[in-house]
Amino acid sequence: MKILVINAGSSSLKYELFDGKNFSSLTENLIEVNKKSKTPTIELALKSAMKELIASRKISSLNDIERVGHRVVHGGEKYSKPTEIDKKLIEEIKKLSSIAPLHNPINLEAILACKKYLPNAKHYAVFDTSFYSTTPEKAFLYAIPRELHEKHGIRKYGFQGISHKFVTEKALKILGNKKAKIISCHLGNGVSITASIGGKAMDTTMGFTPLEGMIMGTRCGSIDPAITFYLSKSLKLSLEKIEEIYLKKSGLLALSEISWDMREIYKKSLKKDKKAISTIEIFSYHLAKHIAEMSASIKGIDAIIFTAGIGENAFYIREKTIDNLSHFGISLDKKANRLSKEIISSKTSKSKILVIKTDEELQIAKEISN
Ligand code: ADP
Repeated sequence: MKILVINAGSSSLKYELFDGKNFSSLTENLIEVNKKSKTPTIELALKSAMKELIASRKISSLNDIERVGHRVVHGGEKYSKPTEIDKKLIEEIKKLSSIAPLHNPINLEAILACKKYLPNAKHYAVFDTSFYSTTPEKAFLYAIPRELHEKHGIRKYGFQGISHKFVTEKALKILGNKKAKIISCHLGNGVSITASIGGKAMDTTMGFTPLEGMIMGTRCGSIDPAITFYLSKSLKLSLEKIEEIYLKKSGLLALSEISWDMREIYKKSLKKDKKAISTIEIFSYHLAKHIAEMSASIKGIDAIIFTAGIGENAFYIREKTIDNLSHFGISLDKKANRLSKEIISSKTSKSKILVIKTDEELQIAKEISN
């Protein structure tokens, strides 16, 4: 059986083909989707993906693809498992677009186009929010009028769950402890920190949308909500403008005034650029604060995982973050950390500290294989 995984975002479409027997990756690509490229729409990117799949000779025809896993960002409160896509689910994903307007419509566009090209395959939605179906009310309810949750679904949902689940399950195996209390830090363009016990999520930093929590590449993370009132009332900025600032003009980009990319910021910091140095300080400090905050939900830390672009590579971020948490009795083996080894904690550290490469596409393939 061949399994195709589709991960459609606002500016790219990632696909990966797996052998369903051993989950080896057969072929993959990332196709840019923007007005200036040859593939200005998700539908055209998918058409191009289908052509590439046939040209790869890993399949003799598109009919070889029996299952397709689609990453869908928002599954609301209802979907805690991968779900086969039928008319009803398409309607539900559409409905959820009102609370996930930046993500679900794109995911839906990819699903509808893909169903056209692969009408005989079984299509599944794998939700970014599902991993958080186990979080208790004390973690997901905001202190705003309860009816905003009850009538309008306003609560913390959590995102990037597919990645957190993948690295957490791997860590449970490395630790040889099925009940381990783990804090996973996904540090990519989007950033979130999740606490779990025995692979069940208990709390996370992202909220009603993927804007809450940690500082990200271009997103501000948690800030005083009253800043929005001030920008609107006193500085007369429109809501669209404020949204653009929070989503696209904040985070590492705003702090460094260099780039959203940690690699660029680090390079400048080595040349003693003050804003680059301060950006790295601020990011590591906030990360330590969120790790400490998350630990309250699991009352202990058996392991901390670093994953995604920054987590897997930026040893200086890991070093400064763990240094800010030394009062927890945790410390790094500095050499192992510099080499980004799998286990980077020191022998005396109270918690294990791990670097694990995430693989969302593999996680999706595995989840829809049974
Ligand atoms: P996403 O969350 O979109 O899946 P990635 O996991 O690919 O993102 O992470 C992308 C980010 O990781 C980049 O924006 C960059 O800041 C950072 N990154 C990638 N490689 C490195 C590296 N070698 N050192 C430091 N940061 C890196």
